[in-house]
Amino acid sequence: MTPDHGELLYEGKAKRVFASDQRDRVLVEFKNDATAFNALKRAELDDKGRLNCQISARLFEMLERNGVPTHYLGLAGETWMVVQPVKVIPIEVVIRNVATGSLCKQTPIPAGTELSPPLLDLYYKDDSLGDPLLTESRLELLGLINPEQRLEIEQLARSVNGWLLPFFESLDLLLVDFKLELGVNSSGKLLVADEISPDTCRLWDQRNSDPKARILDKDRFRQDLGGVIEAYGEILKRVQGVCANPYNCK
Ligand code: UDP
Repeated sequence: MTPDHGELLYEGKAKRVFASDQRDRVLVEFKNDATAFNALKRAELDDKGRLNCQISARLFEMLERNGVPTHYLGLAGETWMVVQPVKVIPIEVVIRNVATGSLCKQTPIPAGTELSPPLLDLYYKDDSLGDPLLTESRLELLGLINPEQRLEIEQLARSVNGWLLPFFESLDLLLVDFKLELGVNSSGKLLVADEISPDTCRLWDQRNSDPKARILDKDRFRQDLGGVIEAYGEILKRVQGVCANPYNCK
C-alpha cells in the first residue's frame, strides 16, 4: 500500500523522503536496496524495506515511551513511516558496547572486548570522504556544532543506548554497537532521526554461541554469510513479541 504523498524531497541509499499534505510531516519509504563499504557492495534484498521500517517504528516508539525525543510520528504502510521534518546534523554518532568492526581494524583492542562505559565515536557524514572519524580538534575546525550541542548530542546518544541495550537484552539480543543520526526540528529541538534497524545496529543472538550464526544484522550482508532477510525477520519477530501494534498515521 502506497500512501498519498507529495514530491520526492530526497533519495538516499536505503530510503526516499516525500512531502505530505502537512508541513510538519514527511513520509519516508524504506527501500529494499542494501549497500555496504560506502556503496561499493550493492544488492536488492526482497522485504528488507518492510522489515527495517517495522523494526525501526517499534524501537522509536519504545524510545518515545521512555521520553527520548525522536522524529517518529507513526506508520503509514508496511514500508512507510511518517516523521517530523528535521535538519540532519552531518555527524554519525556510533556507540559501542563491545569492540568489533572498524574499532578493531584501527586499534589493537581485541574483538569482543566489553566497553564499559560504552565508547562513543563521531564520524563526519560524507560518503565522498568515506565518513571519516572526527577528532575533537577537527570537530572544532569544521564548526559543525558548538560544545553545548556536542554535549547534548552525546547525552542523547548515550540515553538511546541506555534504553536499547536492556530492551534487546530482554529479547536475548546483544546490542554490540549502532549508529545514530540526529536532526533538529522546526522548533530547534534535537531528535533521533533516520532509522534504528539491523542495517544500523550490530545484534548478536544470545541463544546461539556460534560466532557467525549469532550475527543477526547487516554484517551477514557485509561478510556474505547469507540469510540476511531471515536474520532481520528474527529481529522483527522478537521485537514484535513485546511491541505488537505500532501507531498508525492516516
Ligand atoms: N554503521 C552504519 N552506517 C555507517 C557506518 C557504520 O550504520 O555508515 C553502523 C554499523 O552497522 C555498526 C556501527 O555503526 O553497527 C559501527 O560500525 P563500524 O564503525 O564498526 O564500521 P564498519 O565496521 O561497519 O565499517
